[in-house]
Amino acid sequence: MARAAVPGRLTWRAVTIAATRRETASATTLVLDVPGWPGHLPGQHLVARLTAADGYSSQRDYSIASAPASAPDRDRVELTVQATDDGEVSPYLSGVAEPGDQFDLRGPIGGWFVWHPDDTRPLLLLAGGSGIVPLMAMLRTHDQVKSEVPVRLIYSARTPADVIYAVELSERSRFSPLTLTYAFTRAAPDGAKTGRINAAMFAAAAFPPEADPAIFACGPAGFVEAASSLLVAAGHPAGNIRTERFG
Ligand SMILES: Cc1cc2nc3c(=O)[nH]c(=O)nc-3n(C[C@H](O)[C@H](O)[C@H](O)COP(=O)(O)OP(=O)(O)OC[C@H]3O[C@@H](n4cnc5c(N)ncnc54)[C@H](O)[C@@H]3O)c2cc1C
Repeated sequence: MARAAVPGRLTWRAVTIAATRRETASATTLVLDVPGWPGHLPGQHLVARLTAADGYSSQRDYSIASAPASAPDRDRVELTVQATDDGEVSPYLSGVAEPGDQFDLRGPIGGWFVWHPDDTRPLLLLAGGSGIVPLMAMLRTHDQVKSEVPVRLIYSARTPADVIYAVELSERSRFSPLTLTYAFTRAAPDGAKTGRINAAMFAAAAFPPEADPAIFACGPAGFVEAASSLLVAAGHPAGNIRTERFG
């Protein structure tokens, strides 16, 4: 956690794509070289700025997917971008950009939607679609610091093929204190039922309020609203729930 992010004046940095990794048909991880990166905390995001040859530029927020890095990779940062239909920036970053391409970024940003590894409470993570990205940074950090805090992840995706980091999540659930529950909204494997997150699923898969978990929910606004309502109805204090909305 050396060089952890400190608030301060954020400047634009030129970054180079070092590698890309296809995660699903519509989501790609970009491994970035960010010279002078000040470090970050899991859950933080950054602003990416793309500029066309004619000077037109667009900015979008993207969560940081990687755990804070240490030497010799301390200037490496990973993002995972899911293409949005008709979007301007995400189809380019997830489907066109390639190693050697450059753009600008500013960050890290955010001090609220952050998991601190010295927090000893159980960790409850709720992801909708690409909302898994900052939660994956938390899982990777949990592993990096060898935390023994139990973790439960409820991840809503359209189909199994839309699950980002599917293999890594499966491995983590086998070898670390992670319990993984999927809610598939359009197609589920082996004839299982599809459906959105609901009270019965939370009763079975989330920590109960008595466990006093630290809770992070991230994804499209509708998912985050639904998850928060279910948690509060189950008795979790609203103050324990931290949310990030992507849409
Ligand atoms: C804190 C934060 C973190 C995020 N992290 C991630 C992440 O890790 N990964 C990720 O994939 N995304 C993330 N996002 C979402 C990301 O910032 C972008 O919103 C997303 O990539 C879509 O950008 P875009 O330029 O492709 O789409 P946009 O061009 O912004 O369009 C988005 C949608 O709006 C529609 N639209 C655009 N303009 C109009 C209009 N005038 N009228 C009607 N409809 C319109 C488009 O058709 C499209 O469907 C994050 C967002 C936030 C706020």
